[in-house]
Amino acid sequence: MHLSEMGSIADRCWQEIPEHFRYVKLDEYIVMPNHIHGIITISVRTRHAVSVQKDNSVRKFGPLQSGSLHTIIGSYKSAVTKLIHERGYAFRWQSRFHDRIIRNEKEMNRIREYIHWNAAKWEWDEENPAGTSHDASQPVSHPGLCPTCTHMARIETPRGSTFIMCNLSKTDKSFPKYPKIPVLQCRGYVRTQRF
Ligand code: SF4
Repeated sequence: MHLSEMGSIADRCWQEIPEHFRYVKLDEYIVMPNHIHGIITISVRTRHAVSVQKDNSVRKFGPLQSGSLHTIIGSYKSAVTKLIHERGYAFRWQSRFHDRIIRNEKEMNRIREYIHWNAAKWEWDEENPAGTSHDASQPVSHPGLCPTCTHMARIETPRGSTFIMCNLSKTDKSFPKYPKIPVLQCRGYVRTQRF
C-alpha cells in the first residue's frame, strides 16, 4: 500500500504511540485509504483490535480516563488531525472507533491475518479508484503482489508469526523463497481466484 502524505502522517503517529504511552505495545496494523486497523497491547495482557475511520462528522470525545483505550486513540486522532491541518488539508475522523478485546492466541492470529490481507484486498477492490485489473501478459506493477498471487504460500510459526513464501522458488532459484514485501513487479505473478 503506497501511503499518501496524510497516510504517512497517520502511519508515523501510530508507530509513535508507545513513545507517549509506555505501557502500550503495537502489533499488526495497516493504514488504509479511509481507515486504520491495528492491534494494541495495553499493559501486559489486554489486547485490543481497533478500527479508526476517517469521516466528516464532528469530533466529540467523552471524558477521557488516563490510560484508557479512549485516551490513547483520542490522543492519536488529535495528533494526526493537527499535523494534517498544519499541511493545509481538510480532514476529520469519525467520532467513534470500534474496538474488541482479543481473548486468546487463536483470535489474535485471526485478527492479525485479517489486518495483513486488508491491503491486498483493497488493491483488487472494485471501489478502489486507483485499482486496475491485472493483464497477465504485462509486467505487474501493483504494490503487494504476493498476497494475491497463486504461487504464494503462507507459513505460520509455532509462535504465531506469519511469513509469505514463494512456491516458485522450489523450482526456479531466481525467485526468493521469502520475498521482500511488498513485491512491486514479478514476472511469475499469476493472480489467484481467492479474491
Ligand atoms: S511469483 Fe512473484 S508475486 Fe508470486 S508469490 Fe512468488 S514472488 Fe510473490
